[in-house]
Amino acid sequence: MDGRFPTQGAQAPYYLAQGDECQVFAAAYHANLPLLLKGPTGCGKTRFVAHMAARLNRPLYTVACHDDLSAADLIGRYLLKGGETVWMDGPLTRAVREGAICYLDEVVEARKDVAVVLHPLTDDRRMLPIDRTGEELQAAPGFMLVASYNPGYQNILKTLKPSTRQRFLSVEFTFPKPAQEIPVVAQESGLGPEQAALLVRLGGKLRALKGQDLEEGVSTRLVVYAATLIANGMDFHRAIRAAMIEPLTDDPEIRKGLMDVVVAVT
Ligand code: ADP
Repeated sequence: MDGRFPTQGAQAPYYLAQGDECQVFAAAYHANLPLLLKGPTGCGKTRFVAHMAARLNRPLYTVACHDDLSAADLIGRYLLKGGETVWMDGPLTRAVREGAICYLDEVVEARKDVAVVLHPLTDDRRMLPIDRTGEELQAAPGFMLVASYNPGYQNILKTLKPSTRQRFLSVEFTFPKPAQEIPVVAQESGLGPEQAALLVRLGGKLRALKGQDLEEGVSTRLVVYAATLIANGMDFHRAIRAAMIEPLTDDPEIRKGLMDVVVAVT
């Protein structure tokens, strides 16, 4: 669901840093620079942004981009209300007016006209032209644009153009190392550290198969799901099948091969 995340005044959501990404985010924020987060799905990017927004005490607007998302969805549009046409700001416009953080998740998925809107916002003009209303909005202090994309999904039609990419500072995310992923899985699920460590080890084995049989390795999100099911009483192997095997592939042969890995590791 897109929308405003109530971060102001709230305690920062739990986030265990992989490296110096918190410092880079804070430095980008204070220097009025946009930030691009690169990395696979489910490795903590969205949680990181929510965490930083709370730490910096800024409201957060998160938009999950999809292939039908247009500039108007971000900026706003005229709507008919009780016989009258009224202008409704989109999430990007609201963030620009309020000095909030706007997070465009999977920005490459969006339609091409979105990049055009982002350009004047990502340089020192920090300006959002709204053609429909004739306004030229100057971003309020505190406004920050953050976008993410998954280089693994790239195809010829869906890459971030260099002219857009080179307007952002970038931080690369990978799946956390076991020493980080174990406490994350334990904390998020309530599962004990020993069982969390076993799931993380298994996740590592399944990730190693990426590219051979699997398009995408198992994400931290899925490991957390498996751990949550187990913490809630589900049988270990059943939980792993539901959370760490079935979501990866529809091919029964490959699934069977993955389950063999599970049995060997656990
Ligand atoms: P992404 O945005 O990269 O797709 P998310 O931020 O939604 O991934 O992460 C998925 C889940 O994984 C989170 O809800 C959280 O439970 C967990 N997670 C992953 N990395 C971390 C981390 N470093 N600290 C805390 N939780 C994490």
